[in-house]
Order: sequence, then structure tokens, then C-alpha cells
Amino acid sequence: MRVISDLDECRAWVGDRSAPRPRVLVPTMGALHEGHLSLVDLARERAGDDGEVAATIFVNPAQFAPHEDFDRYPRQLETDLAMLEGRGCDVVFAPERPAMYAPDASVAVVESGIGAGLEGASRPQFFTGVCTIVAKLFNLTQPDAAVFGEKDYQQLAVIRRMVRDLDFPVEIIGAPIVRETDGLAMSSRNAYLSDDERAQASVLSRALGEARELIQQGQVDVLTLLGQVEQRIASQPLSRIDYVAGVHPDTLESIDAIGEDGLLIALAVWFGKTRLIDNLCWRRNLAGGA
Ligand code: AMP
Repeated sequence: MRVISDLDECRAWVGDRSAPRPRVLVPTMGALHEGHLSLVDLARERAGDDGEVAATIFVNPAQFAPHEDFDRYPRQLETDLAMLEGRGCDVVFAPERPAMYAPDASVAVVESGIGAGLEGASRPQFFTGVCTIVAKLFNLTQPDAAVFGEKDYQQLAVIRRMVRDLDFPVEIIGAPIVRETDGLAMSSRNAYLSDDERAQASVLSRALGEARELIQQGQVDVLTLLGQVEQRIASQPLSRIDYVAGVHPDTLESIDAIGEDGLLIALAVWFGKTRLIDNLCWRRNLAGGA
């Protein structure tokens, strides 16, 4: 597995005309777990034997607000590299922060539609930071396809929109949420949780699972479903709800009732100082998410 941290070396790798194709990219912030590795597996499948799987590891300061957890975000490069190599990744691009942002950088990619609500409402800087770094990583690594997790459902939608609107020649592939045995969606931030918080955090997937059951029993009223989810989460004393929202799975606009296209229930909940997100995407004849 080739590990690149230098931008010139990255450009040389990309410019090598004998490089295998297709190249499938998995962008991450490191502190890898099985959720990330499932993306690498999917990338391997898509790239095929003749293709190339590349991952990036970069904790992107631009997507953290000053009060957020950039400084304490877990970093474990050597462990991450071993995990990626074990899953058949071919190339890892792990740049240093100064190489990625000039001190006077003044251009950003702003998505102003589907990124405005949900995560965008709670974290106003977030999607501009995400779009800008993903655009830079696409320019630097020039992949044919890139894999993103449905755990960050809105992020996946925003990236699809960016690729469409800015004509990036990159196919965006969504990958299902990978969960711990008790249902908690895997996340690098789960490491922050105390034992008590960790035990109570499994309520998120249980609440979403119950919502799915209610939908399967015929409940179409979104407020009723959200009320159930909120009540279930609030039963855990260490939880503090940021939002629980019911939106159209494609437009991410609020809806009152489940229609032809189904429903996305997206949530963000604090346990102590740790903010967790999860979602259930329910489509007719195709139940996903929790
Ligand atoms: P991150 O390192 O948190 O920025 O995540 C990198 C990529 O991994 C993103 O596309 C995430 O959506 C994806 N990811 C993170 N956790 C999971 C999970 N539990 N299941 C599937 N994909 C995930």
C-alpha cells in the first residue's frame, strides 16, 4: 500500500498514465472503524481487480466550528494505515494541514439548498467545510468514483448535489450504515462516550427501529412518528435532543405525511459533550437505515 502525504507526490501519482483504472476513493477523517472499512470493501468491489482503491485521511479544520472538537478528534494514523492495508486499499493520501490550506485561502464551495436544514442548521460552517475539502480531494486525486456513508445521509446528498452542479466527473456511491451489536451506529466519536452514555446511546437506533415498525403497521403521520422517537430518546436521562426531523428523502424538505417517496427521519442527540447523529431512510418496498 502506497502512503502519500506530499501534494507533489500526489500529483505525480495521479499524473502517472500507467496508473490502474478505475480509481475509487474513500474520503475519511481517520480513527477508522468497521463503518469506514465497509466503504473500502465497497470501493474494492467497484474498482475490481484491475482498478485502484484510494483512501484519504484528513481531519478537516474547515468543517469544525471554533467551539467544536477539532483538537480532541481522535488521531491514530499508524493503526488506520494497518486497517486500510488489511482491507486491500492500494493508496492512502494523508496530507498535513498546512499543505491543504494556504494561510490566506479565500475560496470555498457553498451549497445553499439541501444543506441548509438539519446538520446545516445546527452547524452552519459544516457543509461549506465538507464541500470545499471534498472538492479539493477530488481535484487532487481525480477519482472515477467515491464512496460515502449513509450514516451522514445529508452529507451524501450535499456531495451528490455538488458533483451535479459543478460537473465533477465522479460517480458518488452511497454505503449502508454499519452498527454495533446493540444497534449504535459506528462513529469515531463513540470513543468519547462514558460507559453510562455509551449504554444509553443505543436508544437512538431502538427509537428509529420502533418508528420503522410503526410505519410498517401503516402509520403515515410524520408528527406522530417523530413524537414517538423523541419520547423514546428522552426516556434516557443522559440524552439531550438537538433535532429529530422528518423530511423527504431526496429534497430533505419537511413533510407532514409519508408519500410515494417515503421518509427520512434524521436526528442529532447529545450524550454529555458528544453529539451523535443517526437516521432511518424508509422507502416504499425498500426499508433502509436503522
Ligand atoms: P468520517 O471519518 O466520520 O468523516 O467518515 C468518513 C466516511 O465514513 C463518511 O462517508 C461517513 O458517512 C462514513 N461512515 C462513518 N461512519 C459510518 C458507519 N457507521 N457506517 C457507514 N459509513 C460510515
